[in-house]
Amino acid sequence: PLVLGIESSCDETGVGIVRGTTLLTNTVSSSMDEHVRFGGVIPEIASRAHLDAFVPTLQEALHEAGVTLEDIDAIAVTSGPGLAGALMVGVCAAKALAVATGKPLYAINHLVAHVGVGLLDGKPVAGNPDGGAPASGGAAGLASAGLGADGLGADGLGADGLGADGRLPENLGALLVSGGHTEILRIRRITDDVEMLGSTIDDAAGEAYDKVARLLGLGYPGGPAIDKLAKQGNAKAIRFPRGLTQPKYVGTVEEPGPHRYDWSFSGLKTAVARCVEQFEARGEDVPVADIAAAFQEAVVDVITSKAVLACRENGITELLLGGGVAANSRLRELTGQRCSAAGITLHVPPLSLCTDNGAMVAALGAQLVMAGIDPSGVAFAPDSSLPVTTVSV
Ligand code: ATP
Ligand code: MG
Ligand code: FE
Repeated sequence: PLVLGIESSCDETGVGIVRGTTLLTNTVSSSMDEHVRFGGVIPEIASRAHLDAFVPTLQEALHEAGVTLEDIDAIAVTSGPGLAGALMVGVCAAKALAVATGKPLYAINHLVAHVGVGLLDGKPVAGNPDGGAPASGGAAGLASAGLGADGLGADGLGADGLGADGRLPENLGALLVSGGHTEILRIRRITDDVEMLGSTIDDAAGEAYDKVARLLGLGYPGGPAIDKLAKQGNAKAIRFPRGLTQPKYVGTVEEPGPHRYDWSFSGLKTAVARCVEQFEARGEDVPVADIAAAFQEAVVDVITSKAVLACRENGITELLLGGGVAANSRLRELTGQRCSAAGITLHVPPLSLCTDNGAMVAALGAQLVMAGIDPSGVAFAPDSSLPVTTVSV
């Protein structure tokens, strides 16, 4: 099916178009620049920016994919979680489009879309069967970014289309690491059976990156800045705490304590703040690059070790990585290494599909269509705290 996906949960307005598991286009407009001076996303500004960007983004996506609205078989839209006002813009636009065109509408979960994007195949698109123009933007990005930009043994988008025939491996897990969430999931069916094995009990990993970056004076968004600076630092110069790794938190396999596969990043953030204060109190230069590298190592170490533990103890042998922090070079590298040591096949999306975009929404929407799931109708409301276990509304 030809599916159009709409994303507006935070500061990215995204429209993506897929045909089954093939990406045709991924058009994104971000209001990031308008939030920089505030050091974080301002909801009201984000909503207004979606309103400005939506129609041009839609038009560009249709043009790039060489299709018209009439060609589309279904529309998918992020209905949560995210900023309420931002979600409302995309949902309202999607409902209007669905009513005007008579196409079925699927209200889908942003978090499941972050990992569901890993079900797209990685084949570049030369043209499309509708005889439209060859896809440019998204597909070209896919072809080049497909095999882990940093050559990490992770395989880019499952080259043989891990969701192509609608059948997923029975032992599939997903590690979601984003701005607002950090979760390890078991996916029995991407369309309606997602189970949470563990999650952060306080800050999300992306949030920790953003807060630490602010503390180090690196600006917003912090993730990419720390990723870059960490390459010049010595990760071993300082050892920051890994949360919830002591035996008292870890429980047993038979009786998994609440923390067995959970993370905590707020103590780490405090440790970084204290470390900076100590250098300042001594009147010494703050070794920003070393701190960035050591912080990143702490985050990535504990994320990957707990994720691999959860996989091993739950018979998970294939893992999808997703979310904005999945763009992090060290996370991609260490997850690849630890998965391969544990005999877990890892699927990592190209960088362009990690942060928020419409293609991931379209990709999950296509899975729902292919599985014969009923569309959502147009009576649903966005839910800013939609749980990851609710795949579609
Ligand atoms: P959620 O998906 O949980 O609702 P979100 O949509 O705001 O949250 P994403 O778009 O998935 O979040 O990811 C944005 C986050 O990813 C930000 O916190 C940003 O700092 C982080 N990020 C982006 N690139 C990198 C990177 N290279 N290294 C580390 N973090 C990164
Ligand atoms: Mg964003
Ligand atoms: Fe997101």
